Amino acid sequence: MTRELDNLKALVTGGASGIGLATATLLGEQGAHVAVLDLDPSTVKAPITGFTADVGDAASVRRAVADAADALGGIDILVNNAGIGAAGTVADNPDEQWHRVLDVNVVGIVRTTRAALPHLRASQNASIVNTCSIAATAGLPQRALYSASKGAVLSLTLAMAADHVHEGIRVNCVNPGTVDTPWVGRLLDAAEDPAAERAALNGRQPTGRLVLAEEVAAIAYLASPSAAGTTGTALAVDGGMAGLRVRPAAQI
Ligand code: NAD
Repeated sequence: MTRELDNLKALVTGGASGIGLATATLLGEQGAHVAVLDLDPSTVKAPITGFTADVGDAASVRRAVADAADALGGIDILVNNAGIGAAGTVADNPDEQWHRVLDVNVVGIVRTTRAALPHLRASQNASIVNTCSIAATAGLPQRALYSASKGAVLSLTLAMAADHVHEGIRVNCVNPGTVDTPWVGRLLDAAEDPAAERAALNGRQPTGRLVLAEEVAAIAYLASPSAAGTTGTALAVDGGMAGLRVRPAAQI
């Protein structure tokens, strides 16, 4: 039986945890040969191959992308997923933190894509998927810096899609709502009342629960030849948070 991604080669940044790890696993299950680029890829198990790099550092990205392309025999699919968070209003985050978050979340995509482009240009099924966020399209409290970074990812996705459409490289992004990953686990642990904070996050999503990392499977779909007609799109995986206006289940 052939699988949709048989013989395709995929590189996932931030692929050692959460959404990236779930995506790397799913791409592999669908037949792709998968490599992960991460600050710490030690959680990644064969047949996925891990490469250490900081998307904030151009030299380490160039090295890891070249090593991954060598190991895989090319790159057809690039998932730009590595990202970091920040809490606060515009009054709260120092300039250094603004520079670091924008550098990782936005320029990190630029560095990785720049290094992968020659390989993507050589592919017959080239696709890039960026992990964006609901924070790009909805105003969330205490997320000024993070939202600015993801707004930039959304615009960058559209610009990249336009630039590379004639080269046969599709570029899309997914906008997850709140996803139950180690990242959100760390946020909950840091809250004064983690159970109340989890209940508040659940309540913010019309489905009444957090999205699971495996449910951000839209990344694998957008990366696949099935989505050959789709480029320059942002696909929400947010439990209805962006589009629905429902009452809490208890008040219907
Ligand atoms: P996570 O913390 O579980 O995983 C992120 C991975 O990225 C980690 O393995 C980490 O080591 C890696 N990473 C971080 N900085 C890096 C760097 N400079 N270079 C290389 N690797 C780096 O987080 P997650 O929740 O799976 O988030 C993944 C992506 O999804 C991020 O871009 C995040 O903004 C986005 N996102 C998450 C949520 C959510 O609720 N969890 C919602 C919307 C969007």
